[in-house]
Amino acid sequence: MKLHWQIALALIAAIAAGTLIGAEPWFIETTTFLGTLFLNALRMLIVPLIFAAMIHAILGIESPGELGRIGWKTALYFAATTLGSILIGLVVINLVQPGVIDGTPAGDRLGLSADTSMVLEKVQNRGGGDLIDVILRMVPPNLLKAAVENEMLGLIFFSLLFGYFASRMATDLLRTQRSFWAGVYEVMINITNWVMLFAPIGVFALVARTVAQTGWAALEPLLLFFVCVLSALMVQAFLVLPLLVRLFGLSPWRHLQLMTPALLTAFSTSSSAATLPVTFGCVKKAGVTDRVSGFVLPLGATVNMNGTALYECAAALFIAQAYGLHLSLFNQFVVVVLALLTSVGVAGIPSASLVAISVILTSVGLPLEGVGMILAVDRILDMCRTAVNVFGDATGAVIIAHLEHEESDDGVGGAPLQTL
Ligand code: ASP
Repeated sequence: MKLHWQIALALIAAIAAGTLIGAEPWFIETTTFLGTLFLNALRMLIVPLIFAAMIHAILGIESPGELGRIGWKTALYFAATTLGSILIGLVVINLVQPGVIDGTPAGDRLGLSADTSMVLEKVQNRGGGDLIDVILRMVPPNLLKAAVENEMLGLIFFSLLFGYFASRMATDLLRTQRSFWAGVYEVMINITNWVMLFAPIGVFALVARTVAQTGWAALEPLLLFFVCVLSALMVQAFLVLPLLVRLFGLSPWRHLQLMTPALLTAFSTSSSAATLPVTFGCVKKAGVTDRVSGFVLPLGATVNMNGTALYECAAALFIAQAYGLHLSLFNQFVVVVLALLTSVGVAGIPSASLVAISVILTSVGLPLEGVGMILAVDRILDMCRTAVNVFGDATGAVIIAHLEHEESDDGVGGAPLQTL
């Protein structure tokens, strides 16, 4: 049976087992152990994979001009798709108004205590300091510390520098570097393939534990918000991104099929960073060359988060509605811009966007306790938005490879993927 079918079956079995067995201590313990083991195995690959993939990719790029061209296309794709995704969230939340029930703000029912007039007073425009923090994180004072703490931005920046300067060396040294990094990259991909053989077990454990712990009851009070975010995410994943793929003359259906293992892994792990090794395998199967995927995917997993940005905007607007606060057009614009900027700084780990949502709430003057309100549904929405984040990255790699005429049928430069 193909791996993505195995993972899909594991997912269904996990939902059934989690619902039937519930939060029994032995079940939680076993699933926590197996799930953590699988997640650890994926996380173990992230740091060497980023180095190897990015340096290998840049060494394959012929000239600085070419690097700049791919860089611009990537940045444009990231910005446009993230902005589009945020706007979808904005429209859905404004149309459905999940924070207003029977004409009154849902704040009381959801246990919010802050006084709306106090909240209104605090509405002002702050923020922006966050961008400076992102820039500072890009240049870590200690590379090893950045690696230990999974500060991907720092690793990416260093890999870019390393790749760039290595590519400017004399021919014989350059040749050695090229074959060395190509080798490291190939080994990393092979280890990933091996780890992925255990994906069905890992996915089962991670999802079963979430279902057993969170349960469906938690969704009820926030059902409308949940459905709104889910529908908006689905519009981005099943309409906007496939249309983009189509626009560039590729088959959206085949694209979705090839990306399935990455989407299911993202869904189960709630982490774009942990999914990165699998995403590499999938786009390679789609024929994207190493030099495009090595550049676009690590960057994408760190800065391009379509689903997260959409969620941040939707959550902030929902919380404002629940407080009975009408955000002016200008304030909504501030939310959109902040969602775009903070999604760049959000780490590709579970629940990371809660921090960004706090930043947005503070910036438009909403009390932080609003974050507590959405916690009940955050875990499951995290799974869904992470899948959309990863789908956005993978789609970017495929489109940019197409624009660069960088597709191949044989998985250039590395081992063919048997297991994915
Ligand atoms: N879990 C998300 C990711 O890894 C980040 C977030 O939205 O919390 O992509």
